[in-house]
Amino acid sequence: MPGGVNSPVRAFKNVDGQPIFFKSAKGPILVDEDENQYIDFIGSWGPMILGHSNPIILDAIKAQLELGTSYGAPTSLENTLAKIIKSQVPSMEKLRMVNSGTEATMSCIRLARGFTGKNKIIKFTGCYHGHVDSLLVKAGSGVSTFGLPDSPGVPQELAALTYSCPYNNIESLLEVINEIGDDLAAIIVEPIAGNMGFIPGEPKFLNALREVCDKHNSLLIFDEVMSGFRVGLGGAQAIYKIQPDLTALGKVIGGGLPVGAFGGKQSIMDQLAPLGPIYQAGTLSGNPLAMAAGIALLDTLIKKNPFNSLEKASSELMSHTKNLMSAKGIPFSTASIGGMFGFFFSEDLPNNFDDVVQSDDVLFKKFFYKALNNGIYFAPSKYEAGFISSTHDQSIIDQAKIKIEDAIKEL
Ligand SMILES: *Cc1c(COP(=O)(O)O)cnc(C)c1O
Repeated sequence: MPGGVNSPVRAFKNVDGQPIFFKSAKGPILVDEDENQYIDFIGSWGPMILGHSNPIILDAIKAQLELGTSYGAPTSLENTLAKIIKSQVPSMEKLRMVNSGTEATMSCIRLARGFTGKNKIIKFTGCYHGHVDSLLVKAGSGVSTFGLPDSPGVPQELAALTYSCPYNNIESLLEVINEIGDDLAAIIVEPIAGNMGFIPGEPKFLNALREVCDKHNSLLIFDEVMSGFRVGLGGAQAIYKIQPDLTALGKVIGGGLPVGAFGGKQSIMDQLAPLGPIYQAGTLSGNPLAMAAGIALLDTLIKKNPFNSLEKASSELMSHTKNLMSAKGIPFSTASIGGMFGFFFSEDLPNNFDDVVQSDDVLFKKFFYKALNNGIYFAPSKYEAGFISSTHDQSIIDQAKIKIEDAIKEL
């Protein structure tokens, strides 16, 4: 495999190291091939919000396993999961299941272009929307890690239809809107960004996106592949009280199996085949194992509604870390919402991608390895967010605090 991995950010390139290979996980703990244990703060990049190997989810998968793994035909499981999602994210009046977040955002873009009859899209620098051609322009996550603003293989003609603006900056947005004129199909945004580190959108910025889209008859797409069911049950759109026209989901809704979904206004979704002319399809879409896992996870998540305690736990850990850093005179900033958090080696919290670039790389790398060697598994790049689960209870947080304290002593 290129780089030894099936997805680039796993390769530890940003921290000049070698990835760890894991063989099992339970609750908040990961176990590597050499039997070392780590407190996990990645949670498979989001889905493990109820901890690894959660028995409720495992039982749901096992029960479905006995009934068959794929039929290539409709099942009531798909309706059940769709109804659960819709109950929490009502802007998704109709939705469709796919197999990854990339498929979800890709389909949103096609649908937006097909529905509006326009071609251009606006995205924001540092927001990552999967490895879709049109969206791999100044993207965050692994692309930032490798300093590839654009990828070879994305035709210039296609990239030219994508405009990238700085995040949380209304003035730049309005300038670009003027330049584009009548041809804006959609604005796509991570309303709470998790792919340039963790940076929440400013309410006035996100509200401006809604206004601009309404004014220009363009669609507002919220990419909530990461924030959906991670920052709160209704995602970022419930927190900001903004209704996007289309929403992309992934990560959490599959309970650890490969699932994505996209949806929005019925009048838009009804333009998809077979009702309408815009084509989108998938052989394994709505796969019964993945649906069973997603239903079990979301049902449990809705019953537990753990978001306040998740935020409390990550805030406690991060403010402890910040105090220790301050005592050493090390600049450190941090933020948490629901089950997501972030930290930066910078005096002030970054507000956009350029701010993150400015934060200290050397300190990040040193701290990452000291923490790792003490049994704390943070994301191996300053351009990624942190994730916490309901199994990170007080005793785990207390253990993590001690391990981080030891790591900082060695800094
Ligand atoms: C992870 C992610 C994607 C891509 O999802 P995949 O399942 O990796 O294809 C898209 N958008 C956002 C915001 C993400 O965090």
